[in-house]
Amino acid sequence: MSLTTDGTATDPSPVADPEAFREELRTWLADEFSDDLRSRIARRGTEDGIAAHRAWNATLFDAGWAAPSWPGRFGGRDADLATQLAYHEEMAAAGAPGPFNAIGVSNIAPAIMSHGTEEQQERFIRPMLRGDDIWSQGMSEPEAGSDLASLRCRAELDGEDFVVTGQKTWNSNGDLADFCQLYVRSDPDAPKRKGITCLLVDMRTPGIEVRPIRTMAGDAGFAEVFLDGVRIPRSAMLGELHDGWSVATRTLNNERAGVAVLYLHLRRKLDDLLAAATRTDEWGHRPADDPTNRQELARRYVEVRLVELLAKRTLGAMMAGRMPGPEGSVIKLAWSSTDQSLAGAARMLGMDSLEGRWAWDQLSSRSLTIAGGTSEVVRNIIGERVLGLPREPTTEPPRQEPSEGAHRG
Ligand SMILES: Cc1cc2nc3c(=O)[nH]c(=O)nc-3n(C[C@H](O)[C@H](O)[C@H](O)COP(=O)(O)OP(=O)(O)OC[C@H]3O[C@@H](n4cnc5c(N)ncnc54)[C@H](O)[C@@H]3O)c2cc1C
Repeated sequence: MSLTTDGTATDPSPVADPEAFREELRTWLADEFSDDLRSRIARRGTEDGIAAHRAWNATLFDAGWAAPSWPGRFGGRDADLATQLAYHEEMAAAGAPGPFNAIGVSNIAPAIMSHGTEEQQERFIRPMLRGDDIWSQGMSEPEAGSDLASLRCRAELDGEDFVVTGQKTWNSNGDLADFCQLYVRSDPDAPKRKGITCLLVDMRTPGIEVRPIRTMAGDAGFAEVFLDGVRIPRSAMLGELHDGWSVATRTLNNERAGVAVLYLHLRRKLDDLLAAATRTDEWGHRPADDPTNRQELARRYVEVRLVELLAKRTLGAMMAGRMPGPEGSVIKLAWSSTDQSLAGAARMLGMDSLEGRWAWDQLSSRSLTIAGGTSEVVRNIIGERVLGLPREPTTEPPRQEPSEGAHRG
């Protein structure tokens, strides 16, 4: 069964032997993913870090390792779930990043595969996977985040063009993007969810202004996008007119599958912290000798294992042919809070925790309980859809309802 192509279960795919696949990937990574490359890519947000990641992305694609779950015609290998798991395990063990367009590959491309015309699929999917085109996702607005259905960015049809005026915010990679999957209000008189259209927008179109937003970690991880009378051809529409909510639902549903492999990154972070905490510093001190630190490490270990077990239960269900349900939200909640406490535990490393990847982790992990569904909204979903508690008093269901889980970048 496929993890990411269209959010539905399909027949087992034809990769013959996941273990041979694993061995092949491990050997390939040992040859191709050098320490130099790893440290260049780790300089996130810098020009060289971005260039190194994009070059690595092209190497991955050219060798067929960018998205093994995808169909062969789009550059994948039609890999089944066990093989995809082997892929993620080996990539995480090597510390090798996946494609540059993380949101594009996990969310936007599957939506284009299911809603796009033949021409859109041919034009967009392979260059997105190779990282030749950078994509952003234009959902959030200053007054429409959790409640995505309230979006107001306006699109009026004028002949064969939409004329778009409005603002988007928190566009990951917005300052680099060549294209944006943009959600617009095409019918202001229809009920909120019935008047939205999805457009695939070339960011070089006149009338678009992008203003990078600098995060507290220092990088310009996302941007505000202002659109003023931007003419976008009707052929850029993804799916049907006024039916953008279906595309958004499909796009966000694709986040579910990704949730299941997030524990691999936690495991690697824990291993790195354990290695650093058991190293003797220049004063002969080892953080792990302190009993308080040992307790903290034990707590973090238990949390990471719990996320892993939750994820494996979901993966097991998927292997048995069931798509993950709202319990994906439990993993999102557990994963994001565990990542934050793990990042905070690095304080036991003293001054070392104030620089490099430890400092970056502490600052950037704050966003994980917001991106892809805030913890408050995720708790509502768990309360209502997993535990069957009464609904929160609200006029509109929150944005995360269709995804019931999340990944975001
Ligand atoms: C790292 C990062 C990357 C992102 N990338 C993108 C991107 O590429 N594209 C994009 O479109 N967006 C992106 N976002 C935006 C993200 O989707 C929104 O931040 C998120 O949906 C929350 O919306 P908001 O920030 O408007 O907060 P709001 O929805 O305004 O929420 C404010 C507060 O109210 C709480 N709240 C809201 N509704 C409820 C409710 N029903 N019940 C209880 N509490 C509630 C929230 O939990 C939060 O604490 C990104 C965000 C982050 C942090």
